[in-house]
Amino acid sequence: MLYMKDLLALSHFRFTFLLTDSSQYVVDWALTWHILMFQPKFDDSFTKENVSRHHTLKFQLFLEDLPTLESLKRTRPDLYVEILTCRSCEDHLEDFMHLFLCKKRRVKLHQLFTSYLHHLTQKLKEAGNNANCDYSSQIDRITSLPCWTFLSSNWFSYSLVRGCLPTAFLDAFVTLSISRLTAMNVVAAIHNNFVNKFHK
Ligand SMILES: [Zn+2]
Repeated sequence: MLYMKDLLALSHFRFTFLLTDSSQYVVDWALTWHILMFQPKFDDSFTKENVSRHHTLKFQLFLEDLPTLESLKRTRPDLYVEILTCRSCEDHLEDFMHLFLCKKRRVKLHQLFTSYLHHLTQKLKEAGNNANCDYSSQIDRITSLPCWTFLSSNWFSYSLVRGCLPTAFLDAFVTLSISRLTAMNVVAAIHNNFVNKFHK
């Protein structure tokens, strides 16, 4: 976790100071680290071959270090000329933010966020049913977080795609009698699924 503290001093993480406490989206760094280190189980949709690629992508998202056209222009100006624009919309420069804001990817990204939220609420329902507790307030708590729509001015959704996840994700499960570690694993599996689909 000391290593984490050094990382957070980097400019890549300045956005975390823009997240206000009143939003209920407070980054849980233990959860964030757990998710980075979490190894997905291999199955038909998640073969051994793409696990290392997935792990790399997860770190690239976390460090805002994806090989976008803008970063490639900087590192390989011999191969990537200045005039190149986003391959999807051909309308904007392709930097990290544009990967999420591109009009050609908007529908897919919206589906990914919807599916993420759906997975979380399904797991909360299961936990509530198993513990014989009313889960509706926990579902409301997660659904009302400000991170489910990606906008250029929304640092919460940006935080989510970077893998910097809120304590509220865990607290909702803990309230329904799930241990914190189990909750971390559940959230990690859901987040991995999101990263995996983002890649496709
Ligand atoms: Zn575009």
